[in-house]
Formats: sequence, structure tokens, C-alpha cells
Amino acid sequence: MRNLARKRVMVTGGAGFVGSHLCERLVARGNDVLCVDNYFTGRKDNIAHLLGRPNFEAMRHDVTVPLQVEVDEIYNLACPASPVHYQNDPVQTTRTSVLGALHMLDLARRLGAKVLQASTSEVYGDPTVHPQTEEYRGNVSTTGPRACYDEGKRCAETLFFDYHRQNGVRIKVVRIFNTYGPRMHPDDGRVVSNFIMQALRGQDITLYGEGTQTRSFCFVDDLVDGLMRMMDSDDAVIGPINLGNTHEIEVRELAGHVLALTGGGARLVHRPLPQDDPLQRCPDITRARAVLGWEPRVALRDGLARTVAYFERLLREGDAGLLPAEQAQ
Ligand code: NAD
Ligand code: UDP
Repeated sequence: MRNLARKRVMVTGGAGFVGSHLCERLVARGNDVLCVDNYFTGRKDNIAHLLGRPNFEAMRHDVTVPLQVEVDEIYNLACPASPVHYQNDPVQTTRTSVLGALHMLDLARRLGAKVLQASTSEVYGDPTVHPQTEEYRGNVSTTGPRACYDEGKRCAETLFFDYHRQNGVRIKVVRIFNTYGPRMHPDDGRVVSNFIMQALRGQDITLYGEGTQTRSFCFVDDLVDGLMRMMDSDDAVIGPINLGNTHEIEVRELAGHVLALTGGGARLVHRPLPQDDPLQRCPDITRARAVLGWEPRVALRDGLARTVAYFERLLREGDAGLLPAEQAQ
């Protein structure tokens, strides 16, 4: 029989990098957690430690298909986040963003549930306003290789606000900036995991372009704290609200930090800058500070050290999928 005192919380994309940390925190605080994932970029390993817990359940499901479950809150995180993966099947990426949002909003409307959308700094595209405030409307290509993700996420935001205005759905929209930490997929192509894995494997570190483009990196624990604060906030707080770290650095500086932490002698090599790669990105988090009382706490050096330790452990444990192809055979 279900414990009526326990809040039922669904996390779509719950076996992914951010989703698995969120599930862990929700389970720890006693919520009844349903993780929904199709394992496109997520890993069962990310949630294996939660499977024995009485207040955790995992369901294989694709959010492009409607879902009928009974829950009180929905965190909608399902969507590949790495450019390499979201560009692998761009039509499926748009489908996941748009249909996933539509299905979660329909469910929330029927249940009277709160629903939080994991939107992204990519809605600002290659920004002409710096740092990015929530009022900025963005500079996004509708036709480029990143558009499947950027426009999919923009359309999802539109659906959230229209369901709120039209149907009174209790929405929460956060725009997440680059986040990193343990459980990133080691081969997912994002810059933090790429640099660390390359350094640990003794491979060249691939700087796209000159490496002078900027990003600001938020440790995953800080982000999850922000997501939960947003969900727990008053119904009047609907967003959008930026969540990210304001410590902006050039990508080549990140390579320097990773090299310092891994102690390796890896070489830096340059690769072409991908089309539409944003040249600068940094959140203005004034709103998150004021409305949620939130700001990141983990310094880049500390977060990177914890991430390096995680990838070192993966390699030590010899997960075959993580070894260079010739060693995995
Ligand atoms: P991730 O790729 O590790 O996780 C995404 C999860 O969604 C995976 O477990 C994947 O299997 C699942 N998924 C993908 N398509 C699905 C579908 N059709 N049905 C069900 N599950 C599906 O990425 P992440 O970094 O954990 O990102 C989580 C969310 O946060 C995403 O929505 C992403 O757009 C957003 N976000 C992340 C960042 C970041 O830096 N990590 C930045 C901005 C936005
Ligand atoms: N990048 C890089 N080398 C890599 C992977 C990424 O120089 O091996 C750069 C990429 O061009 C971008 C930044 O690092 O400017 C962040 O890339 P990521 O894919 O992590 O996320 P994005 O912010 O572009 O979505």
C-alpha cells in the first residue's frame, strides 16, 4: 500500500547525469521517486544504488509517448544534452523536447501536479547580451545543427507558458547553464568529460577553435539544489529562472585546470570550432538569488577534483565501455 504522507515525484531523464543526482536527493529526503528514462544517454549504473530503496522505482519509457501515472510533481529532464548526442538524431531531439513537454504538461493538467521544465542557456543561442538575463530573447539559428535542441527547448518553454495561461497548469521553468560532475557520460562529448577522459587516457586534449570561447561551469550538487528550490517555491514563481555558475572562463583555461589536476603531460591540439558554437556564455543569476535564495557554492577547482576522482574510479574498475577500443576487446 502506498504511504499517503509521501510526495510522489517523477523525474524524466532520471538515469542521466543530472537526473540521477536529483533522484538521489529526492529519495534521501523521503519522496516516493519514479525515474522514467529510455536510456538513450542515461545509464542504469547511475541509478543502480537506488534500486533497492523502498521509495525508488525505475521505468523504461520514451517521453515521446504519452504516460499515465499518478504523481504530485514532475521534473522534466528527458533530453540528450551533449551537442554530439543531440545532433546524432536531430529529429528525435526535437521530438523529445516538444512531445515530451506536451505529454508532461497534459499529465500535470490532468493530475493538478506541478511540472518543472529543464530548459537551457541554449535558448539564448550565441548571445549578443552578456551576461545573459532572463529578459534577453536570444540569438538562435532556426536552421543550424544546434537548432534541433535550441528550438526544441524554446518551443517547450512556449508550451509551458501557454499551458499555464490557458489551463492554469502549475509550471516552473529553469534555464540551466553548463553543469558538470560525477556521472557525466565519459564519452558524451561535452567539454569537461572530454578533457578529463583525454587527460586520464593520455590522449591529446581537443580544443575547438582557439579555445577563447567562454563558459561558466556549475557543479551538479549546486544545480540540483536550485532545481529543488524552484520546485518547492510558491506557485506564483514560474520562471524562467537562470541556474548556473557566474565564474566565467575560457575553454583553454579549463584545459589548464584539468591538466593541473590530472598531472598528465597531455598535449593541447586544435580542432575546428563547430558551427554556431556560442562564443561567450555566463548567466545573470540575480533572479535566482532574489527569488530562490540560491547561488552556487562549489568552486570550479573542487568540483573538477571530484569529477576527476569519479572518472579515475571508472577507469580503475575497468568498465569495458570506457576503455579505448583496442583495450576493450
Ligand atoms: P543526460 O544526457 O545525461 O540526461 C538526459 C536523460 O534523458 C538521459 O538519461 C536519457 O537517456 C534521457 N532521455 C533522452 N531522451 C529521452 C526520451 N525520449 N524519453 C525518455 N528519456 C530520454 O543530460 P543531462 O546533462 O543530465 O541533462 C538533463 C537535462 O538538463 C536535459 O533536459 C538538458 O537539456 C538539461 N540541461 C543540462 C545542461 C548540462 O550542462 N548538463 C545544461 C542545460 C540544460
Ligand atoms: N569544446 C572543446 N573541446 C571539446 C569539447 C568541447 O573545446 O572536446 C568546446 C566547445 O566548442 C564549446 C565548449 O567547449 O565551446 C563547451 O562545449 P560543450 O559541448 O560542453 O557544451 P556547449 O556549451 O557547447 O553546449
